[in-house]
Amino acid sequence: MNMKHKGIGMTSQRTRNRLIERLRAEGIRDEVVLAAMNAVPRHIFVDEALASRAYDDVSLPLGFGQTISQPYIVARMIEILRNGRHLNRVLEIGTGCGYQAAVLAEVAKDVYSVERVQPLFERATAYLNELQVDNVTLRYADGNMGLPEVAPFDGIIMAAAATHVPRALLEQLAVGGRMVLPLGAQEQYLHLFERDEQGYHEKRLDAVRFVPLLMGKS
Ligand code: SAH
Repeated sequence: MNMKHKGIGMTSQRTRNRLIERLRAEGIRDEVVLAAMNAVPRHIFVDEALASRAYDDVSLPLGFGQTISQPYIVARMIEILRNGRHLNRVLEIGTGCGYQAAVLAEVAKDVYSVERVQPLFERATAYLNELQVDNVTLRYADGNMGLPEVAPFDGIIMAAAATHVPRALLEQLAVGGRMVLPLGAQEQYLHLFERDEQGYHEKRLDAVRFVPLLMGKS
């Protein structure tokens, strides 16, 4: 990866190693996910003024009222999505700055990510180009619709909280696929949907806090 230098020492592999140790201590077990988190330089995706906090395990403001997810949550959601298997085609709703898409690119063959805020879509495009990530396709669109022309997906991950699961996303999940998303308004929980020949199976997991999934493009 070709790195940009924002802030002294922030590109250091040692800083990222510390993050990985913290994720391990917090319970992330999937070595493939930990390796992916280790490979992606998070500081590239955050504002220069915040670069010194890029490897703290906190969410950070992205502008446009949005936030880049906390590393633990990114790792946890991808660990659940993977469930130990190699992923082929993955859909992310809510590209934001593109950080999670870059981590997904390390664990899946093809990643599609949808963002409804045009300047965020454009910035994420620039960051991913800069890192020469070539297996992520970004779309400026309303993620509630999913991407029917690319479906089915063996993994779907949502980075914004919905009050109920968008129907289109369930339909675009492959048999054998997994979808991980935050659901709820005041109180939010991660939910896992698994699809098999019989239908869908839902499990409620950790309490979380995400920005809301909105309707339409902006
Ligand atoms: N995965 C991101 C975090 C994004 S925050 C990262 O790694 O930085 C959630 C994002 O979801 C915001 O950028 C927000 O604009 C986007 N979003 C909200 N509703 C959406 C919708 N209906 N379709 C697509 N994106 C949406």
